Amino acid sequence: MSELEPVTARAARMLAPNPGLMTLDGTNTWILQAPDRDERVVVDPGPIENGHVEELAGIGPIALIVLTHGHFDHAEAAPRLHERTGAPVVARDPALCISAEPLSEDTGRSKVAGLDWLTVLTPGHSSDSVCFLLEPDRALLTGDTVLGRGTAVVSHPDGRLGHYLDSLQRLRDLAATDVDVLLPGHGPVVQRPVEVLDYYLAHRQERLQQVRDAIAAGDKDADAVVRRVYVDVDESLWPYAKSSVLAQLDYLREGGT
Ligand SMILES: [Zn+2]
Repeated sequence: MSELEPVTARAARMLAPNPGLMTLDGTNTWILQAPDRDERVVVDPGPIENGHVEELAGIGPIALIVLTHGHFDHAEAAPRLHERTGAPVVARDPALCISAEPLSEDTGRSKVAGLDWLTVLTPGHSSDSVCFLLEPDRALLTGDTVLGRGTAVVSHPDGRLGHYLDSLQRLRDLAATDVDVLLPGHGPVVQRPVEVLDYYLAHRQERLQQVRDAIAAGDKDADAVVRRVYVDVDESLWPYAKSSVLAQLDYLREGGT
């Protein structure tokens, strides 16, 4: 039985039992609840694994299920949790929505179960990635756009590096004025959002320069670039690194800087 761990006044984490290379300790399912209300909003119900859906269905009434994006480690359990609770499922991708309209409006405001949040469309990790600013907690739910540890990948070809860099910059600007804490899709809570977003942006530029250098040194394909640039990264992560390299090669080919 995973614990419900309160993080802000309105957000608690329930860790899904799916630890792994890319999921870190597991997927963070976020349970949002206004102090004076019984109903919850569930963000990223996670995978159908080891009773996670049953635990979520058992926490109390659920008004809405929200997805940061459609990757299975975040979204797989949504239809089953909908069946169990009747709560609509809302996401950017219309194919994932159940009894709800897809999120289409950037910086659209939502008010559900006494909770207020701002939707920020942040394509890049995937084309359908979305972040949510929970007010007044000044907490930004980042899905896989920003993780609690390490850095995120751009899932080529659906994810695009140019979009990702734009999204990171937007989140960085938002964090400078409105955000105290990041609630990521994997890993620990991030207490210094601006610092971490600056690091993400710098890291991406650093990797891009390494890829430019690798091409200049004669590397002909993504595999060769991975072998050179990701020499400091465990080989088991190279398939994911290749996805990011392919995204970087596309970006450079299209004239990105
Ligand atoms: Zn993802």
